[in-house]
Amino acid sequence: MHYQTTFDVIVIGGGHAGTEAALASARMGMQTLLLTHNIDTLGLMSCNPAIGGIGKGHLVKEIDALGGVMALAADQAGIQFRTLNASKGPAVRATRAQADRQLYKAAIRHSLENQPNLFIFQQACDDLIVEQDQVKGVITQMGLRFMAKAVVLTTGTFLGGQIHIGLQNYSGGRAGDPPAIALARRLRELPLRVDRLKTGTPPRIDARSIDFSVMQPQPGDTPLPVFSYIGSVAQHPRQIPCYITYTNQHTHEVIRGGLDRSPMYSGVIEGIGPRYCPSIEDKIMRFADKDQHQIFVEPEGLTTHEVYPNGISTSLPFDVQIELVRSIKGFENAHITRPGYAIEYDFFDPRDLKHSLETKFIRGLFFAGQINGTTGYEEAGAQGLLAGLNAALQVQGKDSWAPGREQAYLGVLVDDLTTLGTKEPYRMFTSRAEYRLMLREDNADARLTAKGRELGLVDDLRWARFNEKMEQIALERQRLQQQWIHPQHPALADVNALLKTPLSREASLEELIRRPEVNYRDLVTIEGLGVEGIDPLAAEQVEIQIKYQGYIERQQDEIDKQKRHEQTRLPAQFDYSQVKGLSNEVVAKLNQTQPETVGQAARISGITPAAISLLLVYLKKQG
Ligand code: FAD
Repeated sequence: MHYQTTFDVIVIGGGHAGTEAALASARMGMQTLLLTHNIDTLGLMSCNPAIGGIGKGHLVKEIDALGGVMALAADQAGIQFRTLNASKGPAVRATRAQADRQLYKAAIRHSLENQPNLFIFQQACDDLIVEQDQVKGVITQMGLRFMAKAVVLTTGTFLGGQIHIGLQNYSGGRAGDPPAIALARRLRELPLRVDRLKTGTPPRIDARSIDFSVMQPQPGDTPLPVFSYIGSVAQHPRQIPCYITYTNQHTHEVIRGGLDRSPMYSGVIEGIGPRYCPSIEDKIMRFADKDQHQIFVEPEGLTTHEVYPNGISTSLPFDVQIELVRSIKGFENAHITRPGYAIEYDFFDPRDLKHSLETKFIRGLFFAGQINGTTGYEEAGAQGLLAGLNAALQVQGKDSWAPGREQAYLGVLVDDLTTLGTKEPYRMFTSRAEYRLMLREDNADARLTAKGRELGLVDDLRWARFNEKMEQIALERQRLQQQWIHPQHPALADVNALLKTPLSREASLEELIRRPEVNYRDLVTIEGLGVEGIDPLAAEQVEIQIKYQGYIERQQDEIDKQKRHEQTRLPAQFDYSQVKGLSNEVVAKLNQTQPETVGQAARISGITPAAISLLLVYLKKQG
């Protein structure tokens, strides 16, 4: 009896990183095995049922631009969509979808099951087969051996996972799932730096026990945002609102009263938690002067009564959780369906990874997702796609690829992780990117889809849609440059009605759009100034490109300047005290990090542009 045991690429873990990794590798034609604990948890959201948000939405669009599945699944599962920062500039606008947990899982599973070249198998992976620093395959819990040229590990919070509720704790990968103990032990034998992090989640509540009438409803946006470049509003299921309520002084007293039994404050938990997603006990302690904290009351789906109270993640004892929940307006009679908890897990220092996400010491072994010290589905998915793609490239004997910081948030993410490492769960923010104006949600396809096509990640449908859009943008820009409004133009009066100061000389439509008071849509709805059939996304690009042209060009100049030095190599094992003028602190940091290039040196925190200038002067003198 033949059972396939040899693959090109094996992916361990069917979470957000693993599913994108497996799909990317299979899309590139590799025979790929996805090995995961439980097929029923493929695509499961361990914490809040939502995709996107500031910085994270940007990653989702990039995954989509490279042919990944996250945005499409969010379109099929989103029950409340919003564009965050809608009134701000396009660089920081971000899409967020509240998702129906079951619909999201179903969409991911459907994609996985229908992906050619992809095989799914339910088993825990307990061991890696490594020979002479090259990964050769894996061994499962029941002793099956699967061989491959590359293995991608995406084990999330499962490695040595320890769940805490109050002073009680037990082993687990997340609530309801087993931990990965044998694999964690095996990985600790490898020459990779390992440490512990922690994260937490709030208790869930039965909606039937909540009084929504005293809360503020928060409907989604109209028109409804769409996540995927090839998605549509028609794919969205029924839309429902979220609600807002607040903690109060009494809640805070209850929490303070329980701190002596908090695993975080009694020293039971050693791992560091996510600074930007703190537990409610952390918020009370860190912001002692605040008398309330906002809670978003988010439905978990269309066919369940469970509700996710976003903002009260906690690992306090269960009796304290009940009291704190019931102290909140609208939750007075709340029935908790699942307790909140914290989980500690192993992660590996991402400085031991290359930009391709391959480990530096074991050839063919790639890491992606929470195992690298990140937090969040989006961060995990983006890394998974990159690791799966590079595993496939390696098997094909091709060079690895990773986007630069000026090209994608994915580039920022990978560069931050592999250069700086992380001491706390790393999440994406727009402020982490120096070239924010270039890295917008709206242009992720223009930045990445052609590259994705070249790499074999982008299918014909997406490619055709992309080219159509790019062509429309180019033609429309050309038309706007070539169509002039002169003093005798029949549309002059309508045009002047849009302007602060009437036209005194002829102007192209493009010049008019550049004026702050004019927007594209108002101008092209004037008779004779528009054309039929422009895709609204193409129109949006045209407007952004025109309005922000000056800023974009300036940022491009900066990128070009930076690039000239980015790849300038620094000597290996160099003693930086030889460089005149550097402060002791800078010398110590450079000596410790030993960056390979000037670009990497510049990104070490505390290394100033002045220090970089001194380095460049030194290098120049050395010839
Ligand atoms: P996961 O989604 O954890 O997937 C790992 C997969 O690997 C699972 O399917 C698992 O079964 C499988 N697996 C593991 N080991 C093995 C093995 N040996 N063999 C076979 N299969 C294996 N993110 C936030 O952004 N904000 C938060 O506030 C937040 N809170 C969280 C709270 C909790 C309690 C948890 C558990 C997670 C939280 N997260 C939060 C993190 C978010 O869930 C993760 O960042 C994201 O799921 C990581 O994706 P991943 O693919 O790396 O891992």
